[in-house]
Amino acid sequence: MRKKIKQIAISGGKGGVGKSTVAVLFANKLIKKGKKVILCDCDVECPNDYLLLGQKLRKPMQRVFAEFPKLIKSKCRKCGLCARTCRNNAIFQQAGKYPIFVKDLCSGCGACWIVCPYKAIKSQKQEIGQIFVNPIEKNFWLATGQANAGLEETGPVVAQTKKFALDFAKKVKADYILFDTAAGTHCPVINALLDVDFAYIITEPTPMGAMDLSLILDLCQKLKTPIKIILNQADLGDKTKVEKIAKKFKTKIKKEIPYSKELVRAYSKGKLLNFKF
Ligand code: SF4
Ligand code: SF4
Repeated sequence: MRKKIKQIAISGGKGGVGKSTVAVLFANKLIKKGKKVILCDCDVECPNDYLLLGQKLRKPMQRVFAEFPKLIKSKCRKCGLCARTCRNNAIFQQAGKYPIFVKDLCSGCGACWIVCPYKAIKSQKQEIGQIFVNPIEKNFWLATGQANAGLEETGPVVAQTKKFALDFAKKVKADYILFDTAAGTHCPVINALLDVDFAYIITEPTPMGAMDLSLILDLCQKLKTPIKIILNQADLGDKTKVEKIAKKFKTKIKKEIPYSKELVRAYSKGKLLNFKF
């Protein structure tokens, strides 16, 4: 029987709280216990796990594509149905004129080419990102998703990076996949959190840390994602507000990580792997 691969997200409402650091340290810990681990960097607009591991991204293992609409003017009757249908307001149309597609706002959902009664919109495949794999050491791989510069809707890149990492994990018979998400509570974070067994939520003892913690806990509650809170640099501020938020969501701080100069040094030199913690 195929073993179940444990899927864990490392997330946080606020940027700069040490998500990637915790993700790499956690991967370290698992490898030392003899587990096979894939660390999957889902912060596709700005992946940085490879830097923390002192790596360079190699040739892409997979390219990520999405479908976008293209108007066939000769078939269009300027009826306006596509513009009225688009929920992203990505189609601008003046009365009696051809619709104009605003690519930056388009999610590639396909609604417009489905509803057009005259088949005047066709879908066109375009590359939106790449996926890379770095073998780091025995039993440890890094999968990195990277969206093309300027892409607004990066959720599909996250979804495909996760799928790739899961297939790869099955191939190498991994025990764990750790999904290092972007900061915030927007679509790419939701994509990264979907279907994980649980999420470590990283925060810091500051008012902003507490406020953003509240947002991500609310999101996890809606997604029914079990969470464990990790307070990073726990001794550098007042954790009262973080504790209050945790209590509001009927949970507690699971682990506190104190500030460490050595850790910051290892982080800045890309030497987090094997850092004694
Ligand atoms: S729905 Fe089709 S025919 Fe109508 S405006 Fe849009 S593209 Fe043109
Ligand atoms: S594919 Fe979806 S988001 Fe893009 S223009 Fe069409 S309806 Fe709007």
